[in-house]
Amino acid sequence: MQTVIVTGGAGFIGSALIRHLIANDTCRIVNVDCLTYAGHTATLRDIDQDPRYCLEQVDIRDRSALDRLFSDYQPDVVVHLAAESHVDRSIDGPAVFIDTNIVGVFNLLDAARTWYESLEGELRARFRFHHVSTDEVFGDLLPDAAPFSETSPYAPSSPYAASKASADHLVRAWQRTYGLPTLITNCSNNYGPWHFPEKLIPLVILNALQGRDIPVYGEGHQIRDWLFVEDHARALHLVMQQGTIGSSYNIGGHEERRNIDVVTTICDVLERLEVPHPEGVNRFHDLITHVADRPGHDRRYAIDASHIERELGWRPQESFESGIEKTVQWFLSHGDWCQGVENDQTRQRQGLGATA
Ligand code: NAD
Repeated sequence: MQTVIVTGGAGFIGSALIRHLIANDTCRIVNVDCLTYAGHTATLRDIDQDPRYCLEQVDIRDRSALDRLFSDYQPDVVVHLAAESHVDRSIDGPAVFIDTNIVGVFNLLDAARTWYESLEGELRARFRFHHVSTDEVFGDLLPDAAPFSETSPYAPSSPYAASKASADHLVRAWQRTYGLPTLITNCSNNYGPWHFPEKLIPLVILNALQGRDIPVYGEGHQIRDWLFVEDHARALHLVMQQGTIGSSYNIGGHEERRNIDVVTTICDVLERLEVPHPEGVNRFHDLITHVADRPGHDRRYAIDASHIERELGWRPQESFESGIEKTVQWFLSHGDWCQGVENDQTRQRQGLGATA
């Protein structure tokens, strides 16, 4: 049985990957997550009793803890997702993004390299270090420009994107200089179940349900390429198993949408499902409120996913329209999870421990 370390497995995409691996692989999974404000054990409540799964509450900034993990679990694969992931937070407080997304990646790479150099034969041939990154490393795409390919130049705009770009460069250097067998994936915006409420799509759904303003940056004309999170998990699984060492793969949904259109679509779905309006609200659309734009806001991201499609036969299965409807339905039926996450936020602000 292979052992896969998934870092950041209590977050949005990491938890989707773990659920996918439990259902579609025979591997043992070690979730390495220090449970920041974005990590919740409740997100994994449907699989956390599985004998093939365990959680190690470890911070990737702690190098000696990482060395212990490698020698305790002897992983065949590391899939690295743990990160500070919210652009707005990176603008307000960039330091933790540098610590986790750059120094943390250095720690993990170096611990992986030490482990890899101790391996021989089949174990050595099997080892992979898969780094999960974002399309934001490529920066601002002009409206008529071709989508980002794997050879697009790096031009990150936000502290978050710059920290992820730095990490990608470190991963490439560890492959080229030390021969660590690495893989990199750069994915577009994800959405779906268990998405932390600070991000656009869950924020819109939850604010609408509670009758709160739905904030839209500027005119909302920024374009993102949306991918249902389960399609991303499938792509990660394929790359981890069959990707060519030293390669990077762009992953995207071929679903470019303006932010304002995403928000309107969600309001349309809520109306179509006849979700009761909060008191004093006639139509969910009336809650849309334009606010001052984010500094340095990129206008467009779009992904050319032909490399992974050609080489590994991956294609997204979920259209944006059906994925959004599934996502809205999920949030409507998981009020307890949303409430638990919100309670944790309040407790953290008050300096108390998390509960969810
Ligand atoms: P998330 O914020 O939902 O989850 C991040 C997880 O990492 C949390 O569980 C958190 O507790 C953990 N973590 C943070 N700092 C840590 C540390 N120092 N040590 C150990 N664990 C730590 O993020 P997400 O949206 O699931 O994104 C996962 C990865 O995918 C990130 O690397 C992100 O850059 C990348 N990505 C995200 C998207 C997207 O649309 N969300 C798109 C492309 C790539």
